[in-house]
Amino acid sequence: ESENSIFVADEAAMVAFGHRLAQVVEGGEVVFLNGDLGMGKTTLSRGVLRGFGHQGSVKSPTYTLVEPYELDELTVFHFDLYRLGDPEELEYLGIRDYFTDQSICLIEWPERGEGVLPVADLLLNISVEQLGRRINWQPQTEKGRLLADKLKL
Ligand code: ADP
Ligand code: MG
Repeated sequence: ESENSIFVADEAAMVAFGHRLAQVVEGGEVVFLNGDLGMGKTTLSRGVLRGFGHQGSVKSPTYTLVEPYELDELTVFHFDLYRLGDPEELEYLGIRDYFTDQSICLIEWPERGEGVLPVADLLLNISVEQLGRRINWQPQTEKGRLLADKLKL
């Protein structure tokens, strides 16, 4: 298994990986979730939110584009930009205010917001492998490198 990648056999393992991600972030991270429809991006996001103690439901915010979760330690902004027509619409959502040291931004379909979204600290890519998925991760910043190293352990 290559070092920046893991096989996740099922939905439970995907949630568990999200937990792991929640354990290694410090606040202020931007994570892009790449991968086709049905790859498990929202499932992984649910895992992150569970990791921070959120017990309620987590749905892909396809129509609202972003769902904020105000948790004990920080705020998680979960984006799904699938239906975003133009990256500039993000400006109207006031998204610049979302990227702070006290928030984590998880972004599905980040390519739709290209040019307006900040650089991601970590890119996650999910693809099909056998009956499960493979997650590959790639740091883009110094902060992301720390995350990527911790995810390997
Ligand atoms: P996305 O947000 O990428 O469109 P979802 O998180 O909604 O995808 O997941 C789509 C489906 O994939 C769900 O039925 C979920 O149970 C399933 N799934 C998630 N992770 C895995 C996995 N590691 N292996 C197999 N199925 C998975
Ligand atoms: Mg989704």
